[in-house]
Amino acid sequence: MLILKTDTDVRKMRLAGKIAGGALMAAKAAIAPGVSTWELDKIIESYIRSHGAIPSFKGYGGFPGSACISINNVVIHGIPSKKILLQEGDIVSVDVGAYIDGFHGDTAKTFAVGDISAEAARLMEVTENSLGEVMKLLREGVRLGDIGNAVDSYVTGFGYTTVKDFVGHGVGRALHEDPSIPNYGTPGRGLRLMKGTTVAIEPMVNAGVEDVIVDNHDGWTVRTADGKLSAHFEHTFYIDKEGFVILTDPEDN
Ligand code: MG
Repeated sequence: MLILKTDTDVRKMRLAGKIAGGALMAAKAAIAPGVSTWELDKIIESYIRSHGAIPSFKGYGGFPGSACISINNVVIHGIPSKKILLQEGDIVSVDVGAYIDGFHGDTAKTFAVGDISAEAARLMEVTENSLGEVMKLLREGVRLGDIGNAVDSYVTGFGYTTVKDFVGHGVGRALHEDPSIPNYGTPGRGLRLMKGTTVAIEPMVNAGVEDVIVDNHDGWTVRTADGKLSAHFEHTFYIDKEGFVILTDPEDN
C-alpha cells in the first residue's frame, strides 16, 4: 500500500534528505587514495549527528556502519572498514540515510578516486544519466513499469545491465516502505505513483552481467558475479501533479 505524505511530512523529509545529501558531499570532499572506508564512514556519521539527525543505516538489520561504502565490483552494502583503503583509479559508491523528526532521506552516488579509466567514467555517467531518464517521466500517474523500463532500456543501450536482485523503494517514516521500485519493467504496467508519494529511486548498473553474489563472510557485501564494475545513484523524490521534488538535494533551502 502507498503511504501518502502530508505537506508537513514532506517538509520534514526535505530536512532529512538535505542532511543525507550533505553527508554525501562531506564524504566526497574526503575521497582520496589511501583514505579508508572507515574514515569516510566516520565523516558521514559526524556530519549527520552534528545536524541533529541519526544515520538511518546504523544498526539497520544489524548493519554495522553509518553508510554503505562499496568499491569497484561491490554493487551495494559494502561495510566500512579500516582495512579497506581507497586506491587511485577506484570508483566508490556511497549510500547514506539520515533520520530526523520521524522521517528518513536516502541517497547514493558513485565517485571517482583520483584518475579513473574511461570505461569506469562512462559507467558512472550512464548510471547517473539513467536516473535523469527517470526524472523525465516522474510525476503523478507514472507507472512502476515505466520507471524501471526507463533505467533498463537506457543502460542496456550502452551494453550494461541493471541489477535485478535489489531495488528502489518507498521511503518515509520507515527507511523501506512500499512499493518496491525495480530498475527494469514493462512499459504501461505496474502500480501508478500518486501525488504525495515519496520514493527512493536507485539505479544499480553493472558493466557486465546482471548477476550478483552476497558475500558469505559478512552476509552484506553484494558483488557483481563476474567481478566487473558497478555504479549506483539514488535520490529520494516527492511526487506531485506537476512532477517531482528531489528531497536529497544538499543545496536545498
Ligand atoms: Mg535506498
